[in-house]
Amino acid sequence: MALIVQKYGGTSVGTAERIKRVAGRVAETHNAGNDVVVVVSAMGKGTDDLIALAADVTSNPYPREMDMLLTAGERISMALCAMAIHDLGVPAMSLTGSQAGILTTSVHGQAEILDIRADRVRRGLDDGMVVIVAGFQGVDPVAKEVTTLGRGGSDATAVALAASLGADVCEIYTDVDGVFTADPRVIPDARKLDEVSFEEMLELAGAGAGVLMARSVEVGRRYKIPIHVRSSFHSGEGTWVKEETMEEPIVRGVAHDSSEAKVTVHGVPDKPGVAADIFEGLAGADVLVDMIVQNVSIEGVTDISFTVPKASIDRARTIAERTAADMGARGVDIDSNIAKVSLVGAGMKSELGIASRMFRILSDHQINIEMISTSPIRISCVVRGDDVEAAVGALHDGFQPPASPTEE
Ligand code: ADP
Ligand code: ASP
Ligand code: MG
Repeated sequence: MALIVQKYGGTSVGTAERIKRVAGRVAETHNAGNDVVVVVSAMGKGTDDLIALAADVTSNPYPREMDMLLTAGERISMALCAMAIHDLGVPAMSLTGSQAGILTTSVHGQAEILDIRADRVRRGLDDGMVVIVAGFQGVDPVAKEVTTLGRGGSDATAVALAASLGADVCEIYTDVDGVFTADPRVIPDARKLDEVSFEEMLELAGAGAGVLMARSVEVGRRYKIPIHVRSSFHSGEGTWVKEETMEEPIVRGVAHDSSEAKVTVHGVPDKPGVAADIFEGLAGADVLVDMIVQNVSIEGVTDISFTVPKASIDRARTIAERTAADMGARGVDIDSNIAKVSLVGAGMKSELGIASRMFRILSDHQINIEMISTSPIRISCVVRGDDVEAAVGALHDGFQPPASPTEE
């Protein structure tokens, strides 16, 4: 008998019919003698619909009320799932994030899990029940306010619960068959990977492979929880995200991300403290900065460019314009038509010439590189937003990430 955490994403619980199918799989796992904890997302595009509804009411929703609104999405799916599981003769109980003891920081819309007091979940399991937990939400224990964990946060709920309960595996059920060598919706001939290391998955997710939220991978790595990403539509094996993989390919996959915009502060005085002023202001306003490039200085002034999520562009603009005025910089430019394309692979650590090959492939396709950043196992380039699909296709063809061992 095992303790299994199963997470079902929005598409997997998108209709009453699909919820009944999920219930069938949960009941089967329970009836086979396992303890099962289920984490659910909002139905279909439920979270997007709630965000759009808020935007129809106000252009500046209060973050606390936004979290009150968005947590409702997962609450609907958890109750419906519990009902469907009951119908199959299996005792089940749904819990909100707060009831499940998911304690978070206080940042609305981007809270981090601090601790899970899972006694109520454990009691439910001890009583022979399937426990269903609403994903993507928790509670700030000091202010007793409901919080959300950021988009895709149900993955983090699932892996953190698996870690806290000491689960044998965390299964992430989604609308694709696993983790692919590139987003299969953009590259139809991308291949499913049998396995990928935590280290690589963290880089892929951080570079835009939205199949897993990066923070969930971080928790999996820290607590050594194997994550099985698989389809909710059939029972075939998916992709195992785990500590060690049999092979360390140079390039495991290509990821892309069109969710960021580029901010450039022009004519910044080239002296100590200037970068600190800009980025302290952004951090203070909870704006996550990704890539940063400072150009060479000409006659004592330089340009600084950085990327931020499009969702925080208004805050970033306000801070950048204020700091630019204070330091006597020339002005601020915002460019939303950019995208980032990245190569990820653990074998890159010991291989020369990958960056130059990547740049040559992009240039052969007339794609201009605007910014570059690297980690030991990743190379990312910012390109024009309109060029991103061509860039992913060219790099996927050019590097031909090797087939997984079982996939000859
Ligand atoms: P869920 O609602 O189940 O959480 P998501 O939409 O968050 O589903 O994640 C699944 C989607 O991730 C897929 O439909 C796919 O388009 C996208 N995706 C991006 N990169 C990859 C990749 N490398 N492998 C698999 N899916 C990917
Ligand atoms: N429903 C939330 C979202 O759409 C959380 C999740 O699905 O993981 O981002
Ligand atoms: Mg998701």
